Amino acid sequence: MAGEPQSDCLFCKIVAGEVPATIVRETETTVAFRDINPQAPTHVLVIPRAHYPDAASLAAGAPDIAADVLREAGQVAEQEKVDESGYRIVLNTGSGAGQTVFHAHAHVLGGRGLNWPPG
Ligand code: C5P
Repeated sequence: MAGEPQSDCLFCKIVAGEVPATIVRETETTVAFRDINPQAPTHVLVIPRAHYPDAASLAAGAPDIAADVLREAGQVAEQEKVDESGYRIVLNTGSGAGQTVFHAHAHVLGGRGLNWPPG
Protein backbone atom coordinates (compact mmCIF):
# COMPACT_ATOMS: atom_id res chain seq x y z
CA MET A 1 0.00 0.00 0.00
CA ALA A 2 1.24 3.53 -0.78
CA GLY A 3 3.25 4.99 2.07
CA GLU A 4 3.86 1.67 3.86
CA PRO A 5 7.46 0.82 4.92
CA GLN A 6 9.40 -1.33 2.44
CA SER A 7 11.66 -4.01 3.89
CA ASP A 8 14.33 -3.47 1.21
CA CYS A 9 14.44 0.35 1.52
CA LEU A 10 17.50 1.93 3.15
CA PHE A 11 15.69 5.13 4.15
CA CYS A 12 12.77 3.16 5.67
CA LYS A 13 15.45 1.47 7.78
CA ILE A 14 16.82 4.87 8.86
CA VAL A 15 13.28 5.93 9.82
CA ALA A 16 12.92 2.70 11.83
CA GLY A 17 16.30 3.25 13.54
CA GLU A 18 17.68 0.04 11.99
CA VAL A 19 20.43 1.88 10.05
CA PRO A 20 22.37 4.65 11.84
CA ALA A 21 22.18 8.26 10.66
CA THR A 22 23.13 11.62 12.11
CA ILE A 23 19.68 13.05 12.62
CA VAL A 24 19.43 16.85 12.84
CA ARG A 25 15.64 17.31 12.99
CA GLU A 26 12.55 15.12 13.32
CA THR A 27 8.84 15.76 13.07
CA GLU A 28 5.81 13.49 13.18
CA THR A 29 6.03 13.05 9.40
CA THR A 30 9.69 13.69 8.49
CA VAL A 31 13.30 12.91 9.44
CA ALA A 32 16.31 15.07 8.48
CA PHE A 33 19.84 13.65 8.64
CA ARG A 34 23.33 14.47 7.37
CA ASP A 35 24.24 12.96 4.01
CA ILE A 36 26.88 10.27 4.46
CA ASN A 37 28.79 11.64 1.42
CA PRO A 38 28.41 15.43 1.75
CA GLN A 39 28.71 17.55 -1.38
CA ALA A 40 28.75 20.86 0.51
CA PRO A 41 29.52 22.05 4.07
CA THR A 42 25.80 21.67 4.76
CA HIS A 43 24.30 18.60 3.08
CA VAL A 44 21.21 17.29 4.84
CA LEU A 45 18.53 14.95 3.50
CA VAL A 46 14.90 15.50 4.49
CA ILE A 47 12.75 12.42 4.03
CA PRO A 48 9.12 11.57 4.74
CA ARG A 49 8.63 8.77 7.26
CA ALA A 50 6.16 7.27 4.78
CA HIS A 51 7.62 5.41 1.82
CA TYR A 52 7.08 6.95 -1.61
CA PRO A 53 9.66 6.26 -4.33
CA ASP A 54 10.23 9.87 -5.36
CA ALA A 55 9.12 13.44 -4.78
CA ALA A 56 6.43 13.42 -7.47
CA SER A 57 4.74 10.26 -6.16
CA LEU A 58 4.91 11.74 -2.64
CA ALA A 59 3.26 14.97 -3.82
CA ALA A 60 0.56 13.00 -5.67
CA GLY A 61 -0.10 10.51 -2.86
CA ALA A 62 0.42 12.61 0.26
CA PRO A 63 0.55 16.32 -0.61
CA ASP A 64 0.47 17.43 3.04
CA ILE A 65 3.60 15.39 3.75
CA ALA A 66 5.29 16.74 0.62
CA ALA A 67 4.66 20.21 2.03
CA ASP A 68 6.10 19.09 5.38
CA VAL A 69 9.29 17.96 3.61
CA LEU A 70 9.71 21.35 1.93
CA ARG A 71 8.93 23.22 5.15
CA GLU A 72 11.48 21.12 7.00
CA ALA A 73 14.07 21.80 4.28
CA GLY A 74 13.65 25.49 5.07
CA GLN A 75 13.93 24.80 8.80
CA VAL A 76 17.14 22.83 8.22
CA ALA A 77 18.59 25.75 6.24
CA GLU A 78 17.75 28.10 9.11
CA GLN A 79 19.16 25.73 11.74
CA GLU A 80 22.36 25.28 9.70
CA LYS A 81 22.57 29.06 9.19
CA VAL A 82 22.71 28.87 5.39
CA ASP A 83 19.35 30.57 4.86
CA GLU A 84 20.81 34.06 4.46
CA SER A 85 23.68 33.12 2.12
CA GLY A 86 21.40 30.94 -0.01
CA TYR A 87 20.96 27.20 -0.32
CA ARG A 88 19.62 24.66 -2.76
CA ILE A 89 16.85 22.06 -2.40
CA VAL A 90 17.42 19.18 -4.85
CA LEU A 91 14.92 16.46 -5.72
CA ASN A 92 16.74 13.99 -7.98
CA THR A 93 14.06 11.97 -9.76
CA GLY A 94 14.96 8.84 -11.72
CA SER A 95 18.32 7.12 -12.13
CA GLY A 96 19.11 9.25 -15.19
CA ALA A 97 19.03 12.30 -12.92
CA GLY A 98 21.21 10.70 -10.27
CA GLN A 99 18.57 9.25 -7.95
CA THR A 100 20.11 6.26 -6.18
CA VAL A 101 17.74 5.77 -3.24
CA PHE A 102 14.12 5.27 -4.24
CA HIS A 103 12.53 6.73 -1.12
CA ALA A 104 11.60 10.40 -1.64
CA HIS A 105 14.19 12.80 -0.25
CA ALA A 106 15.10 16.46 -0.53
CA HIS A 107 18.79 17.37 -0.47
CA VAL A 108 19.49 20.64 1.34
CA LEU A 109 22.86 21.99 0.17
CA GLY A 110 24.58 25.14 1.34
CA GLY A 111 27.64 26.72 2.88
CA ARG A 112 29.49 27.23 -0.41
CA GLY A 113 28.87 28.84 -3.78
CA LEU A 114 26.45 26.80 -5.89
CA ASN A 115 26.78 26.98 -9.66
CA TRP A 116 23.98 27.02 -12.20
CA PRO A 117 23.22 24.93 -14.20
CA PRO A 118 24.02 22.00 -11.90
CA GLY A 119 26.11 19.14 -13.29
O1 C5P B 1 19.43 11.76 -4.85
P1 C5P B 1 20.11 10.47 -4.50
O2 C5P B 1 19.17 9.29 -4.53
O3 C5P B 1 21.35 10.20 -5.29
O4 C5P B 1 20.57 10.68 -3.01
C1 C5P B 1 20.82 9.65 -2.13
C2 C5P B 1 21.74 10.19 -1.08
O5 C5P B 1 21.71 9.35 0.04
C3 C5P B 1 23.21 10.29 -1.54
O6 C5P B 1 23.63 11.65 -1.49
C4 C5P B 1 23.95 9.42 -0.51
O7 C5P B 1 25.19 9.95 -0.16
C5 C5P B 1 22.96 9.42 0.65
N1 C5P B 1 23.07 8.31 1.59
C6 C5P B 1 23.15 8.59 2.95
N2 C5P B 1 23.20 7.56 3.86
C7 C5P B 1 23.20 6.30 3.43
C8 C5P B 1 23.13 6.00 2.05
C9 C5P B 1 23.05 7.03 1.14
O8 C5P B 1 23.18 9.74 3.35
N3 C5P B 1 23.30 5.30 4.35
